[in-house]
Amino acid sequence: MSAGDPSRVGSYHIHTWGCQMNVHDSEKLAGVLEREGYVPATSEDDADVILLNTCSIREKASEKVFSELGRLRRLKRTNSNMLLGVCGCVAQQEGENIYKRAPYVDLVIGPRAIDSIGPALASIRDGGRGALRVTDTEYRSDSIRFPFDEIRRIGESRAKAFVTIIEGCNHRCTYCIVPTTRGREVYRPMADVLQEVRVLARKSVVEIEFLGQTVNAYRDSEGNTLAELLTATAAIDGIRRIRFTTSHPAQMTERLMDAMAAAQPTVCAYLHLPVQSGSSRVLRAMRRGYDRETYLAKIEALRSRIPGMLFGTDIIVGFPGETEDDFLQTITLLDEVQFDTVYSFAYSPRPGTRALELDDDLPPAGKHERLQRLQEHQKGIQAARMATWLGRSVEVLVEGRSKRNEERWTGRTVESRVVNFVGDSAPGRLEWVEITETTPFSLAGRVRASDLDRRRLAPI
Ligand code: SF4
Repeated sequence: MSAGDPSRVGSYHIHTWGCQMNVHDSEKLAGVLEREGYVPATSEDDADVILLNTCSIREKASEKVFSELGRLRRLKRTNSNMLLGVCGCVAQQEGENIYKRAPYVDLVIGPRAIDSIGPALASIRDGGRGALRVTDTEYRSDSIRFPFDEIRRIGESRAKAFVTIIEGCNHRCTYCIVPTTRGREVYRPMADVLQEVRVLARKSVVEIEFLGQTVNAYRDSEGNTLAELLTATAAIDGIRRIRFTTSHPAQMTERLMDAMAAAQPTVCAYLHLPVQSGSSRVLRAMRRGYDRETYLAKIEALRSRIPGMLFGTDIIVGFPGETEDDFLQTITLLDEVQFDTVYSFAYSPRPGTRALELDDDLPPAGKHERLQRLQEHQKGIQAARMATWLGRSVEVLVEGRSKRNEERWTGRTVESRVVNFVGDSAPGRLEWVEITETTPFSLAGRVRASDLDRRRLAPI
């Protein structure tokens, strides 16, 4: 336990797995802990509280958590004050079972009970037994009210912030566990969201990313949708970029597309729109709620409104019943859309999902062979698309030093392209960078002008 500063009650370390929502949940956990007087630990070995913020979307997630807990148990033996907690989707899914299998765990906190971690830790420190909070009555209503300013902890660049606007999911995709772990959709009132964005803008945040499992299903009790939210956010002084993730194709409405087009260039001309398969037959088996033609029509409708718009997607290959012909339809979809980013996975059965009941006659090796073919194909598409950036100048929001090369800075363009570059810069600045090299996954270049000069220079 800590000494010195009396307001300091201990130190914490958080391990995070999974999607952007989980990364943001870890920020919120850190925010709550710091509000309670905890400080970040210099390393896991020195931490008074270690939290595993888990994700159950991938196969055998629970097993990975229990194996990590086994490792941490050894650390706990050398530090009897240390408290060990499991948070996130595995906490929600496994609940009490975690205590049965790992009785040395001190607390289990579900994704909707983050704000209760402070009282839970205090009660354990006061001699109470392990706390189990997998739900919170506050979230049983149809709207979420985060005490946002208190539980927010802005990421290192301070120029960008994530803002959760919707939690949960009302879809029932047959391969997915999220509706079970995160529950049905709940929405934050738009007025609360805008208030939070204004506070962030005053703190020099220039880029906002709205988050939700199905972010474009957002609607508050006043009838505001994501379309109204984008329009109102784009009007806030200081906000230069708006992103939102993850969108569901079925909820990509004309109204939303019109709002995105009207708010150019502040609403970024890049959209992550998971398609999962190019075969309508497989999409039906996945219960995605759209077919290939509808998906392609939405891409076309967006590109006609926002010329040059870029797209990313998620793909599952080897879903139960997927034939070679279905797979080839996914390949032709890649050719048609020309995605700039693809996250692809080989299907693996996940406990608690309906896809488990489907006949699956393609062995794992066959699924991985398809995955490799798809990834090779997409690499060729991306290499050709990235090459078109050569010689252009792009506006980059600087995130920090490149992890691979300390002499380079790294950041993203408005279209979400990663750019590594050399020159005088600093995290949080907007720079014009001239692109001198490309790879299938990133761009590289040198600073052409800093944000201070940007008004004098038009992009090439
Ligand atoms: S839309 Fe489908 S894949 Fe996405 S979170 Fe909901 S159920 Fe899961």
